Amino acid sequence: MRKISIFGATGSIGQNTIDLINRNPEAYDIVALTGGANIERLAQDARRLNAGIAVTAHEDKLDDLRAALDGSGVEVAAGATALIEAAARKSDWVMSAIVGAAGLPPGLEALKQGATLALANKETLVCAGSLVMQTAQNHNARLLPVDSEHSAVFQALVGEDMATVERIVITASGGAFRDWPIADLAGATVEQASSHPNWNMGQRITIDSASMFNKALEVIETKEFFGVSPDQIEVVVHPESIVHALVGFDDGAVMAHMGAPDMRHAIGYALHWPDRRHLPVDRLNLAKLGQLRFIEPDETRYPALSLARQVMERGGLAGAVFNAAKERALDHFIARHIGFLAMADMVAAVLDRFDAENGLIDAPMTLDNIQQTDHLARKWVDEAVTQRAG
Ligand code: NDP
Repeated sequence: MRKISIFGATGSIGQNTIDLINRNPEAYDIVALTGGANIERLAQDARRLNAGIAVTAHEDKLDDLRAALDGSGVEVAAGATALIEAAARKSDWVMSAIVGAAGLPPGLEALKQGATLALANKETLVCAGSLVMQTAQNHNARLLPVDSEHSAVFQALVGEDMATVERIVITASGGAFRDWPIADLAGATVEQASSHPNWNMGQRITIDSASMFNKALEVIETKEFFGVSPDQIEVVVHPESIVHALVGFDDGAVMAHMGAPDMRHAIGYALHWPDRRHLPVDRLNLAKLGQLRFIEPDETRYPALSLARQVMERGGLAGAVFNAAKERALDHFIARHIGFLAMADMVAAVLDRFDAENGLIDAPMTLDNIQQTDHLARKWVDEAVTQRAG
């Protein structure tokens, strides 16, 4: 039986992973399941899948989790350290589907025990690209992409020589506001930003799709995962979300990966890799679709894309600054402290302030330095929000 752990089991990716596992439960031994506030769901899945341990990120929820799993034989634990300890338990395959930079420490720990890390948590590579890749190499561990675009690129590259790759094109739906007049974006509400035209995802990534911060993170993730240079990466708006990515080779050929927008494809590919197995996703009917559109992204509408270029050129810990500032600005948008467009303004200002005031951005890429950078970036966003309100 394959030993499997799922970090972020109660979220959208976690639940899709469990859906696939539930179709063949006798093939898997579930080592650890983790969640956050949703104790009921975590306990229900841990009980049904007979997990070794269930961990909630929130220490104040430990008693609730213990009560919910009473008599089940499933161990319980809580807090950030418990998440890392769970990641150190021997697993063959670990799903990294916590949302945000909180996914980085358990992901690194899983790599240290030599597991295959199925990476939905793009923040891991944005904050700590070279550290993560080096850790995987040192411990003979493997990273597999779960983001649909990166899974698509990975599949298009099977059997290919990276030296022949000219460019990687990742597609973007354009999010909830693709067709809105730019003048209306300042007034966009949390509810409006939380509805995605094609994908059914967690709230944070859905809002990040509307602002294109999600695509900005994915551009950086592409650079780190595939080791290409920033000028080899392109973004194209593709409203139908059928083509997930394209790889252009130096003989002029372009390999496109297509499929219905259902994350169980990319999760299943990572789960069964290097094999392909039957997956319960819709099959494409191109004639019924009729047409596929591709549009150049407008960087005035999506300033996050030019910020991503700035981050890749800047290097060092700029990815960790970018991600932390983005996460905190998103918290403030969700809490209705700031407007939709203020998120990009704040991230840009924090990046500039790091360059002007703090040498930490050029410190060596260690987990400690990343976490310090992350903390400071969040603090500066909070200060900027308070100043605006004052
Ligand atoms: P969700 O918000 O649906 O789920 C997030 C998971 O992380 C939940 O299990 C949540 O617990 C847990 N969690 C939240 N905060 C913390 C924390 N501080 N520490 C530990 N665990 C925490 O997110 P998604 O499933 O949408 O996304 C997960 C990751 O996958 C993100 O990095 C996202 O960018 C990436 N991704 C998602 C895609 C999608 O289709 N959803 C597509 C491609 C990538 P609880 O809910 O119990 O509070």
